[in-house]
Amino acid sequence: MEQKLFIYNTITRKKEEFTPLNPPFVGIYVCGPTVYGEPHLGHARPAITFDVLYRYLVYRGNKVRYVRNITDVGHLEDDTEQGEDKIEKKARLEQLEPMEVVQFYTDSYHASMDKLNVHKPSIEPRASGHIIEQLQLIDKIYENGFAYEVNGSVYFDVEAYSKKYHYGKLSGRVLDDLYANTRELDGQSEKKNSFDFALWKKAMPEHIMRWPSRWSEGFPGWHLECSVMSTKYLGEEFDIHGGGMDLIFPHHECEIAQSIAASGKEAVHYWIHNNMITINGQKMGKSLGNFITLNELFSGKHAVLTKAYSPMTVRFFILQAHYRSTLDFSNEALNAAEKGFERLIEAYNNIDKIKPSETSTININNLQTKCIDALNDDLNTPVVIASLFEAVKNINAALNGSEKFDKESIIACKKIFNDFIFNVLGFIPETSSHVNKLLSDLVELLLNERMQAKKRKDFEASDHIRSKLVSLGIEIKDTKDGFEWKLKN
Ligand code: ZN
Repeated sequence: MEQKLFIYNTITRKKEEFTPLNPPFVGIYVCGPTVYGEPHLGHARPAITFDVLYRYLVYRGNKVRYVRNITDVGHLEDDTEQGEDKIEKKARLEQLEPMEVVQFYTDSYHASMDKLNVHKPSIEPRASGHIIEQLQLIDKIYENGFAYEVNGSVYFDVEAYSKKYHYGKLSGRVLDDLYANTRELDGQSEKKNSFDFALWKKAMPEHIMRWPSRWSEGFPGWHLECSVMSTKYLGEEFDIHGGGMDLIFPHHECEIAQSIAASGKEAVHYWIHNNMITINGQKMGKSLGNFITLNELFSGKHAVLTKAYSPMTVRFFILQAHYRSTLDFSNEALNAAEKGFERLIEAYNNIDKIKPSETSTININNLQTKCIDALNDDLNTPVVIASLFEAVKNINAALNGSEKFDKESIIACKKIFNDFIFNVLGFIPETSSHVNKLLSDLVELLLNERMQAKKRKDFEASDHIRSKLVSLGIEIKDTKDGFEWKLKN
């Protein structure tokens, strides 16, 4: 593809032309979930954002290796490195093996991602499967003089690192401010400075997930796994590292420091971060009662929700905002997304109903150019969707005769819709909840008609309705007060 793709690089704070290190190969690493609970609305945005980036790069002819990790050890209760491991805490509360917790919520995450039509990553490494490599990285950092050991734990020496390199280059944090904010913590911690972060932690006696090492029996610090697994699978330097904005500090800042401290090289060329989702203007949080899991969203079972929203409604809701802008969840916004998605699919289905004219009153090639230009402008999916809606107007106008499509335009229009709605934006047609309700109302209507026929002993009519519904794949069971029905599996 000729046109240049521009993407906002968090570290340079500007849109830059995207040039892969080894074209057509592109390596992407995205921070995946810490699997200690049900996947929630907050998981959907990075997954969908980077899914569209992946799909668009493939559309442009790149060969993409997409690595998304599973954090199954080392992510502690609070990000200041105190407290219990999130997974171990859950295991203790539920009396499970930590790896049972990991398996259960990994499966649950995968099931939700499948529903959202998020592509599986090419590689999905787990932190607990890369302990040896993490210990090797600690050795390098230690040998280079950027780490120190205290009581069997190893910490990254931010002060020593800052004398040579720029700590804070990604997040814009200034070390002097960090000093000022952390003085009062002195004496409570074995760290030299409270902004130092753990590379290895000695396990307390009650800690279950532990591995032997030259330092102590313990476990790796949270930031280490991503430095290790990204470069293991994508090379010492690679193209894109992504994640939510909440990971910029400390997680990604620490990743940069670790890579440079170990190899002297910056591993990542483009840092891409999606903004967060708020709920009715508030941050999502368990204590605020607005914490919505994806299954609750899909089933409608949550006090904040007025109804269920389909996975494609959620996908549409996320993509109709630019990934770097804030996105506020509300029932109104989700309802609007549901209607928008239905209109788009309806128009796609209607393309086949347009009667071709000799000439065309619209220039369909413009549509493709607009979609590509929008995606090349930092993945501007809302503009892609708006351009598709302009075409929806044209399609509807053609159906009522006020616009004309010739045969070529109809074929081109169908192809552009296919390319962008399904391949790049990653939607799949689904029966909307509105249509589902209508269909089930129609089945009930027919079965009630059948009951009336039976009552008046018109068995020919009642048997006819029954056999027609059965042939459509509906199972009917007569009960004492009427009937039950379901779709045959
Ligand atoms: Zn990470």
